[in-house]
Amino acid sequence: MSEREIYDMCIIGSGPAGLSAAVNARVRRKKVLLFSGESGLSKVNLSPRIDNYLGFPGMNGNDLYEKFKRHLEEFEIPVVKQKVQTVGLMDSLFMLQTRDAIYESRSVIIATGVAVRKLIKGEETFVGRGISYCATCDGPLYQGKTVTVLDYTGEGAEESLFLADFCSKVYYVDMTQKAPAFKKANIEVITGDPPEEITGGDTVSALKTRGRTVDTDGIFIFRETYPPGELVPGLAIEEGSIKVNRKMETNIRGLYASGDCAGKPYQVAKSVGEGQTAALNAVAYIDALQPAAP
Ligand SMILES: Cc1cc2nc3c(=O)[nH]c(=O)nc-3n(C[C@H](O)[C@H](O)[C@H](O)COP(=O)(O)OP(=O)(O)OC[C@H]3O[C@@H](n4cnc5c(N)ncnc54)[C@H](O)[C@@H]3O)c2cc1C
Repeated sequence: MSEREIYDMCIIGSGPAGLSAAVNARVRRKKVLLFSGESGLSKVNLSPRIDNYLGFPGMNGNDLYEKFKRHLEEFEIPVVKQKVQTVGLMDSLFMLQTRDAIYESRSVIIATGVAVRKLIKGEETFVGRGISYCATCDGPLYQGKTVTVLDYTGEGAEESLFLADFCSKVYYVDMTQKAPAFKKANIEVITGDPPEEITGGDTVSALKTRGRTVDTDGIFIFRETYPPGELVPGLAIEEGSIKVNRKMETNIRGLYASGDCAGKPYQVAKSVGEGQTAALNAVAYIDALQPAAP
């Protein structure tokens, strides 16, 4: 039987904060695993010109990100190109669930950035009451029901196929302009009609798009990043950001946050610095966990 693989540090997010954390943890010889999400990109890639990152004036965002990634590759840090859907804690080990697997780690650094797009009207009201960000986790609750998938990243297409296996109807609202031709008859594609409002009573009952209203029991939303409180149940949030102290510790022991998800200013230099701070403090935490040598 193969031994359980337990990482010292799992890092969620491949922007400057996550990459900086990964490099610094490897320098300290920790067993690290980085989760990048399907795109494997960062918000840095959206910037045509970055003028305030020290030492690299006038740098194109893609070029700067390439340099960051090359640094990561030099340290041979393994990358899982999937999103982490939830993080749980069991016997002081963190369990990170992606669509395909569960990973175990002694510590976790969240570096998931912030969503570029605004939330949809009504979204916050119905989180946990019909709004979900994880089909694997919550899909089975909608057996025989109607659900709607709002897909901003492309990952919603595969999740729609999964949901269509047991939901009576799946509306797929395509925000990627790359909707696949679904072969399952119970998936209806809505294109060119952006969502405007989520309504309901105790739970979600409808999605209003610009052009129509769709009755639905649940809505699954796939964006580049999830609200952090949805990723880790019990995580303390302050003014929309993960609450951290100067060590980048969250309210959960062994769990750190860095970069945009830990608050303003949303900047590359701050993200790199916080990634390093989080990693070094996580290293100290892991070292303190090791049993003393006999
Ligand atoms: C147009 C634009 C211009 C900018 N210009 C500048 C500038 O000139 N100077 C400057 O300093 N800053 C600039 N910024 C801001 C800068 O890009 C961000 O502050 C920085 O990228 C934040 O880094 P981060 O690592 O926190 O997050 P991000 O770069 O947002 O990276 C987060 C990563 O986490 C991944 N992720 C999210 N959720 C999950 C999950 N559940 N599982 C796995 N992976 C996940 C995402 O896919 C992404 O790869 C600009 C931003 C934009 C949008």
